[in-house]
Amino acid sequence: MVFRRSIYKTPAQLRAMVEPGLITAAALDAVRPAVRAGATTAELDAIAERTILARGAESNFQLVRGYHHTTCISVNQEVVHGIPGDRVLEPGDIVSIDCGAQFEGWNGDSAITIVVPDPDRPELVERRQRLSDVTEGSLWAGIAALASASRVGEIGDAVQTYVEASGEGYGILRDYVGHGIGRKMHEGPTVFNYRVADLGPEVRPGLCVAIEPMIVAGDEATLVEDDDWTVSTVDGQDGSHWEHSVAVHDGGIWVLTAPDGGAAGLAAFGVTPTPIS
Ligand code: MG
Ligand code: MG
Repeated sequence: MVFRRSIYKTPAQLRAMVEPGLITAAALDAVRPAVRAGATTAELDAIAERTILARGAESNFQLVRGYHHTTCISVNQEVVHGIPGDRVLEPGDIVSIDCGAQFEGWNGDSAITIVVPDPDRPELVERRQRLSDVTEGSLWAGIAALASASRVGEIGDAVQTYVEASGEGYGILRDYVGHGIGRKMHEGPTVFNYRVADLGPEVRPGLCVAIEPMIVAGDEATLVEDDDWTVSTVDGQDGSHWEHSVAVHDGGIWVLTAPDGGAAGLAAFGVTPTPIS
């Protein structure tokens, strides 16, 4: 593969990636408590937009041709690219929220999944929370692998190994993948969420990637809904999506879209993130 721009950023460029990452994290933090039964997905989107604009940044999703929202919100069998609108969240829904900010020409990209409480259906909530937990765990496993990887492809190996070790038989989306991030939200290299023969480019200081496992409770086959955006499972089973933007620098790795740099999530893997200086 040929990239017009180097995938490796300078130390100054890495420093410029810090603020858009934090703004993206703030937007998702603001949305999190609003994810509850009765809320519309458009209301959640508006919260994210307000948060990003208040920090002097702009939504990078709105810079994607044909897309007019700040977030993608995907509910239940929808996995990614759901369009916010007048859909009202219901108890027990599993809701994935993907969001990004551009600040002074640099980008952040992150996603979380939340299960709306449903006191009447504890088994449903538990089942969906397990899917979200395994997806989030696979994200941290992938980030932890990056800390000592020599090739980008080792991330996907770690994600797949983690998902398989859950013993749940979950599917991993094949047609949607992570990516480099920088001046543009989507740059090279491709970051697979599964094992690939070609391990791809070298991991070295300056690499910035968005790692984003998309995991489903059943078969990995997906379709695009009639709105031309929303990606749903063919079998109607639930999906979950977690994502962080991560930088590799001289001192180690730093999760740009986590205010603690990923310290809490990486602790279970024995990895300590190092701030970008
Ligand atoms: Mg994203
Ligand atoms: Mg992304």
